[in-house]
Amino acid sequence: MLKINEGLLTLCAITLASLSFFSCQNISNSAFGSQKIDSIVENLEVIIFDKPTLHAKWDSLRKNQLKFTVDSLNPVDKKTQKRRLKDSLRREFDKHPKHIYLTFDDGPLVGSRAIDSLARAKKIKVNAFVVGRHSAMGKYRLRDLNLYIENPLVAVYNHSYTHGYNRLQTFYSNSQKAFQDFKKNEELIKFDSKVARLPGRNIWVYDNERKIDIQNAAPTADSLFKDGYKIFGWDVEWRLNSVSGTTNVPVESIFNKIVNFMDNKSSKEPNNVVFLMHDDMFQTRSGQKLLNDLVDKLIAKGYKFEFMEDYPVKY
Ligand SMILES: [Zn+2]
Repeated sequence: MLKINEGLLTLCAITLASLSFFSCQNISNSAFGSQKIDSIVENLEVIIFDKPTLHAKWDSLRKNQLKFTVDSLNPVDKKTQKRRLKDSLRREFDKHPKHIYLTFDDGPLVGSRAIDSLARAKKIKVNAFVVGRHSAMGKYRLRDLNLYIENPLVAVYNHSYTHGYNRLQTFYSNSQKAFQDFKKNEELIKFDSKVARLPGRNIWVYDNERKIDIQNAAPTADSLFKDGYKIFGWDVEWRLNSVSGTTNVPVESIFNKIVNFMDNKSSKEPNNVVFLMHDDMFQTRSGQKLLNDLVDKLIAKGYKFEFMEDYPVKY
């Protein structure tokens, strides 16, 4: 580790806050632009962050907080430097486990019981974002909700009580009412942890992250976050025809898509892929067979199945 005095450390920290921490690098200007770039990034971050993590490095790169300079003696353009650093971080991530989050929305519905059974049979963790109103639609739906709640391999999370009756534009236009709809679900189900997904919206609000796809749902997401919720969207979605249990996207294709997200680190968080499905996709034997085959492939690949409350696993 490089030695550095307190004054320079503060300067680095301030400069980092202003999103350009390489501008405070009179430490070793000449090494930039050469193959030594990785070790320089390493060293600077050892100084700046107490415990540098792969994720912190990836975040700095992703958010363009790294300022590369070109060394005239050994010129390598900034784009190449950035690519090299990205590749080397990717290789580092590949030495660590990869985490898959199977998430099933809109249960309890016909199909929920098959998901519950699959989790037990394969001994994998799965996540159910449930809609409380569906449990009032007959004794079997209430049974399915209870199957989820009693299964330690199923984490049950909040997806609102009414799902806005699928009129989402109207639902989100009154954020206070939408927020109360989530609270109503919470009163009914008594969730173990405050994790939510917004109906029809790929919105992420957790830790210091905030990613909004459609603005009109942002106030609802912010109210939930203020209330202690983490809100999660998804990286990859799979759709089956719920009546026929068939799909235009075969198991092999969706599996490859997940693998690509893992390997390219193109998911919201590297090495963590959130995969969206819906309970009603698995009401037929053919739909259940497809899910079974996909899970077998993910298991064979060595992926770890995780609960959303543990998202993201960082290194
Ligand atoms: Zn939904």
